[in-house]
Amino acid sequence: MKICEIISVGTELLLGDVTDSNASYLSQKMKELGFCVYFRQTCGDNEERIRASLSLALSRSDLVLITGGLGPTYDDLTREACASYFHLPLEPDRSVMEKISAFFQRRGIEMAKNNLRQAMIPQGALVLDNDWGTAPGIRIDKDGKTVILLPGVPREMKAIFEYRVLPQLSLESEFRLKTKVLKLYGISESRVDELLSSWMRNGTNPTLAPYAGNGEVELHVTASANTPDEAEKKCAEMEREILPLIGKYCYGEGDETLEEVLVKRFSQDFLTVATAESCTGGMLSQRITAVPGASSVLKLGVCAYTEEAKKRVLGVSDQILKDDGVYSEACALEMARGVRALSGADYAAAVTGIAGPVGATEKDPVGCVYLAVVGENRERVGRFVFGHSHSSREQIRQLASSKALAMLLEEAGRFCR
Ligand code: ATP
Ligand code: MG
Repeated sequence: MKICEIISVGTELLLGDVTDSNASYLSQKMKELGFCVYFRQTCGDNEERIRASLSLALSRSDLVLITGGLGPTYDDLTREACASYFHLPLEPDRSVMEKISAFFQRRGIEMAKNNLRQAMIPQGALVLDNDWGTAPGIRIDKDGKTVILLPGVPREMKAIFEYRVLPQLSLESEFRLKTKVLKLYGISESRVDELLSSWMRNGTNPTLAPYAGNGEVELHVTASANTPDEAEKKCAEMEREILPLIGKYCYGEGDETLEEVLVKRFSQDFLTVATAESCTGGMLSQRITAVPGASSVLKLGVCAYTEEAKKRVLGVSDQILKDDGVYSEACALEMARGVRALSGADYAAAVTGIAGPVGATEKDPVGCVYLAVVGENRERVGRFVFGHSHSSREQIRQLASSKALAMLLEEAGRFCR
């Protein structure tokens, strides 16, 4: 397989002011095209250091993608650095010049003289037209290696890559890679590792890789083949083999989220939900309403923060507040029953607990959350401790709302795909 290296140019990236999203995008695209990305570099706006980065990249990679520093200003030096590295003179390209002038004319803006710097192209290089901005991309092929320069503005970079670079590279690549992502909830990364260890240790095509985050695990199944269809078939075969072991944790695929799956499956079956939240402060209903189509699923979301509100709005009894307290299974259950009765929804979920960093009690540590889900003929309630000693309030709220979504799906019998 051909080796690809990505260089992101921009002092703002080194200073941490801008996140290098271009590199992630290009890594993903190159992987799908069947290139191996072994290295990435970040380099400031400095001609000498850009040359040094390019030199290092070409010593170990077949194809180098560079983004950023193609603009018109004095600190945009990528074009100059590459031309001088290859000892190619920069020449004005008439058609690029006309395009840039037209770009400004159409917008009725006077063009600064230095914009024409963007029409300077290394002799013999291929121009990758930019119909989305001013700086064109540039492709240089020399001594069996390829260097492709792309603008830094993410929108322009993506468009030029998609329309000018990808079609050609897909002809040049020998393999196709396909990744199928399975979304798992309710299982740890190490348990996935354990269950699938024989495939993980011995499999090379497809490969299995679990990634954990936000209380969930993404299992990436990646196959390479001569055609995309063949690679997809290999992924599907692997999926069939492993599903008996992990299927009960698998709620979705690709970039699906718990809330998307909930809205999709509940609306398909005309089911409705209501939420009663204390420590999550509306995050559960916010996550549901962020999904298009939520209006046919969510009937009511109550954020009942004080004891008074839990009592008056949701009907939690004085007795429970006195004997069990707000952090209790009994209280969570009453909250869920209350909001279900208020709304007439098929299912209701309630959350009450301690998001921290203060508020721990003798009985309950920070991160302790009581969750209840109530349906027509079912009631489930539990005590969970989310996060660890350094988890933020935000993380605990996120983990608690995810668990509530998973419980709603499970109680409605609609968790698995
Ligand atoms: P321009 O014509 O706008 O000057 P350029 O090719 O010179 O384009 P830069 O000046 O390096 O690109 O960056 C333009 C914008 O794109 C800046 O706002 C910068 O923060 C952003 N940008 C540059 N590189 C990246 C990157 N790797 N990831 C995300 N954003 C980036
Ligand atoms: Mg710049």
